[in-house]
Amino acid sequence: MHQTVATYAQRQISPPEAFSKAIGGEFLARIKLTGIPVIFLSPGSNEGGTWGGFCSESKYTERGEIAIHRALVEPTMCLPQSPIIRRVYLHEASHRLMEGHAHNAAFFAMNLVLLLRSGDGNEDPDWHYSSLYDLQDETERMSEAFAWGWKIALELASSELTADECAKYIESAFDAWEEELARRDDRVAEARERRATELATFQALQAKVGERWWFALCGWSLGILLTLAFQFS
Ligand SMILES: [Zn+2]
Repeated sequence: MHQTVATYAQRQISPPEAFSKAIGGEFLARIKLTGIPVIFLSPGSNEGGTWGGFCSESKYTERGEIAIHRALVEPTMCLPQSPIIRRVYLHEASHRLMEGHAHNAAFFAMNLVLLLRSGDGNEDPDWHYSSLYDLQDETERMSEAFAWGWKIALELASSELTADECAKYIESAFDAWEEELARRDDRVAEARERRATELATFQALQAKVGERWWFALCGWSLGILLTLAFQFS
């Protein structure tokens, strides 16, 4: 049995120029986010698909870092694009802030807060690139999740709350929203059950009324027949 095994350890380096340009101090102050550690990675040959970044659970990281694909900031691979670096960083940073929420309404709201704040008045602000990809876990209640996330993000984006405070606010608002939806679902189920019982009672009553008419008709016909029988006997 091995007594020890080896793993990679991170080494701190100066941020790549393209990254510093995209995620500068002024930008972080504007979105009210304390810089989240970043690790730049090149995908290995066994990693399929394309990705710009990812966010592992904190317990699997050294410093809570988020990962960004090296190609986004490495000028020898392609021309770095600040808006793309920003959006990938904000997406992964939102995962770190809303850990455990994957791509649900809470995550969507958090990412949208940062995208709304990141605009610096240009004609193509980052919130234009908010995507339903961020809401992919809400397919059963997409329209409600979008409306909820959009409303709360608009309120928070213009507030003085830091990104961390926004995350806590969204977290508790999300729990309250889910409880409200569950209560509403219970009320709808109760109303459906009540309607089904009422309908069954009504149908049973209708059947009884029908039966009475049938007996009345039989009795009436029998009466006529007996009358006729007595008259002609
Ligand atoms: Zn994601």
